[in-house]
Amino acid sequence: MNEPGAVPPWLAQPWQALVLRAAAGHLPGGLLVTGAEGVGKGLLVSALLQRLFCERATGTQPACGECGGCRGFLGGVHPELHDVMPPEPGKDIPVDAVREAGEFLALSGSGDWRVLRLHPADAMNASAANALLKTLEEPPAGGLIVLESARPSALPATIRSRCEDLHLPAPDLEAARDWLAAGAPDSSAVDEAWAASLGRPVVAAELLADPERHAAWRQEREALAELLQTRELHSAVTHLARCNLETLLPRWQALLLSAQRWLVSGEVDRFAAQFPPDRLQAFARERGARGLASLVQESRRWQRQARAQLNPQLRLEDMAAAMLPQATASRLASRGRSGAY
Ligand SMILES: [Zn+2]
Repeated sequence: MNEPGAVPPWLAQPWQALVLRAAAGHLPGGLLVTGAEGVGKGLLVSALLQRLFCERATGTQPACGECGGCRGFLGGVHPELHDVMPPEPGKDIPVDAVREAGEFLALSGSGDWRVLRLHPADAMNASAANALLKTLEEPPAGGLIVLESARPSALPATIRSRCEDLHLPAPDLEAARDWLAAGAPDSSAVDEAWAASLGRPVVAAELLADPERHAAWRQEREALAELLQTRELHSAVTHLARCNLETLLPRWQALLLSAQRWLVSGEVDRFAAQFPPDRLQAFARERGARGLASLVQESRRWQRQARAQLNPQLRLEDMAAAMLPQATASRLASRGRSGAY
């Protein structure tokens, strides 16, 4: 088990820096925590807020987990914290929610801190962001506004310029291994979850904890392994249709990058190690550097189109056709003839 209240090792340094600044009264009024999905933004912010509300911890000790402040925070009922989230995943944060949050922050509290937490902040619609701007311009004493975002470029520049940006880089596996091992049966399960998560520790931890997600990954891995060797359009479409494209496509892309790496350096990376080596190598050799590069481009295009309203069956057939070796060759040839490539 990981120690309660403690931050994961790859977040320890930014966490300590924030706690020391808070003690010195040097936290900014607006803090924007950025980094890829699953890198641990929420873990860092939760550990920081619990520590700010903890009535016992001193210095850079983690929150005690037992005092009234900790229990209020962990129970989701701390009176000095106002959480703002979309009403449902994928929906906007509406303007009313941000106005209400601004009124909360303006009331004087009983403790040292009064905190607004917006996650994900990029879910605010334009009028919500505008309402937050007023609060960010004049944060009250002891008021802290924390925004979490994996897509900070989707936030208005006026919001970003009024916050201090704290970017969390993705850790490497060795920095996250012990933390993940606490929830894993053995080290090969950690390696597998890390590969499946594409290097995102929180996603890897969820995969280790949730049998359904684990089963979905195993099914995708099987489909990807089949896509490496199938030569039939129908079979490729069938394998694709069984998977969730939102998770499958980034993994297909990771597999292509693994194939490129193997072709160039002979190195079998962590993602490639989840697949039969002879199959990936035969695939890489057959496609060659140019074929793999064009598949990577196609895969990026499919991911950009992921939310477009396309005919799902046609979309699967388009993808499957591009994945097959002979189809790739004839498509490249026809593009060459028309001068479009
Ligand atoms: Zn405490």
